[in-house]
Amino acid sequence: MARIDLTGQRFGRLVAIKDAGYVDHGHRVWECKCDCGNTVFVRAGSLKSGYTKSCGCLQASISRENLEKAHKWGRTHDLKEHTKLSVLNGKISSANKSGVRGVYWKGPRKLWIARLYFKGVLVLDSGFAKKEDAIKARREAEEKYFKPILEKYHRDKE
Ligand SMILES: [Zn+2]
Repeated sequence: MARIDLTGQRFGRLVAIKDAGYVDHGHRVWECKCDCGNTVFVRAGSLKSGYTKSCGCLQASISRENLEKAHKWGRTHDLKEHTKLSVLNGKISSANKSGVRGVYWKGPRKLWIARLYFKGVLVLDSGFAKKEDAIKARREAEEKYFKPILEKYHRDKE
């Protein structure tokens, strides 16, 4: 396999530092520096295909770390926002038949209800015949209302 110089190239959070000097499964291995500070060794093929974009911290930060940081941020900035993030991240009530936070079965109406409170305001309150649709609506509302808080947190941090 031809040697390709990746020095200084960025792949997601990783920047290729130097050729590590060995081959793994037919690919040159590159020493990479992750934005979080970790050094990792990644096959050139994984970098170029986009398969590897961080030392492993990327997924964790998207799903969990950001939310935890937002909680921390919320404690010092806006208690109401923090409360709502706690709801987002908290335990599902045992009375909730859907298994998904913010989605409830309304027996008498034969509907799945998707609800979301944001800053004390009911911003989503819709009924759906299909549970999947209710979950989708709830997820979309979470994305719409909670994502800006997480982004605001990161802006404040920088
Ligand atoms: Zn990392």
